[in-house]
Amino acid sequence: MRLIYSTGKVCEYHNPSSCLSLNPDLSDCLASERDYDRLRFCWEGWRDAVGRKLKDKYPRFVELSNQAVHQGVPNWADTGAYWRSWYETADFQEQLENLYNQLSPLYNTLHAYVRKKLREQYGQDKISANGPIPAHLLGNMWSQSWSNIYDLVEPYPGKTSIDVTSKMLSDGWTVDRMFRISDDFFKEMGLTEMPQNFWDNSMFVKPADREVVCHPSAWDFYNAHDVRIKMCSNVSMQDLVTIHHEMGHIEYYLQYKHQPVPFRRGGNPGFHEAVGDLLALSVSTPTHLQTIGLLDTVENDNESDINFLMSMALDKISFLPFGYLMDQWRWGVFNGSITPETYNQEWWKLRTRYQGIVPPVPRNNDKDFDPGCKYHVPANHPYMRYFVSYVLQFQFHKALCETSGHIGPLHKCDISAGTEAQKAAAGEKLA
Ligand SMILES: [Zn+2]
Repeated sequence: MRLIYSTGKVCEYHNPSSCLSLNPDLSDCLASERDYDRLRFCWEGWRDAVGRKLKDKYPRFVELSNQAVHQGVPNWADTGAYWRSWYETADFQEQLENLYNQLSPLYNTLHAYVRKKLREQYGQDKISANGPIPAHLLGNMWSQSWSNIYDLVEPYPGKTSIDVTSKMLSDGWTVDRMFRISDDFFKEMGLTEMPQNFWDNSMFVKPADREVVCHPSAWDFYNAHDVRIKMCSNVSMQDLVTIHHEMGHIEYYLQYKHQPVPFRRGGNPGFHEAVGDLLALSVSTPTHLQTIGLLDTVENDNESDINFLMSMALDKISFLPFGYLMDQWRWGVFNGSITPETYNQEWWKLRTRYQGIVPPVPRNNDKDFDPGCKYHVPANHPYMRYFVSYVLQFQFHKALCETSGHIGPLHKCDISAGTEAQKAAAGEKLA
């Protein structure tokens, strides 16, 4: 299933020998195309190319996975129950629902604002005034992060915006420099620098001579020295943040490498996902971007603040319903309440209910398998950890900002500016 996903291609109607891969072609299409029909072609093509091929394979996989966890010790009721056990919280599902209900008003407000802007861009005949948004217009293949449509929704055009990708390109930034900047930040915080074999063994860019899994990942070879990142990076702000995310995993591996193997885990899976993002929250502040040469001037006024907060919301708030629903769907699949016949309609029920989006073309529930078009489904990576992380990372950020003596709003806090937070991050305060 992972091979089908990572080698999926979408070929042009008029030129079947010209084919697009997910990274970078289709991702770029969703990010920067502003033509409604071209966007729909890229969105639909990916689902035709991958989902339809996976549809018949997934039910058998679910069966086998459940068999495996039945035979484990203890024997879990199904794969979803096993995944939830990692959180060691009996009322995990209630806690999640409670968290989501507290956060959803933020999402609903963002959704309404973005829908209004998209109506101005694409026309009132394409998007209703108070219904769901067509899924292909939000800058991302899964509508999970909306950062790429910042230009369409910027609250105060002309004021500072922190999308510094164009600055990175015009200044001749390289992928290697992005990894070095990230490593420097971990070092500055008093954390462990990446070892030499990390630089020797990792894959930072997409190789030209073979097919690879491009989905970014961080690897622990469990021998206390071999750690690697595999990623098809491009020079962009988004990838700079992703590099910090993946390096956060590596940092975790390095911090617990001396522990016995059963203890080489995060506190729960959400902790592991939160560490790199936590550092990226500080790196993304306008003042920090200025110190690494990515912003020339930082305007300190209300309008620039709102622009910055909007760019954060397009990444962090837009993600919440998607992060929450992925495993709502999968837990239902694993416990049998969602059957192969209803895989696709139940998926879209959740997508519409939580994300407020609809497919731009009718789905054929006998043929389509849209959940399979997201990496973590064919690769069978649990997903609730990301929702948990999107809450935890802000709690960590707040705690470290307070420890560092930061005064003022949290979105202006750069934890590298204080020394106490560095000690806390290095474990001195936490020991
Ligand atoms: Zn991760």
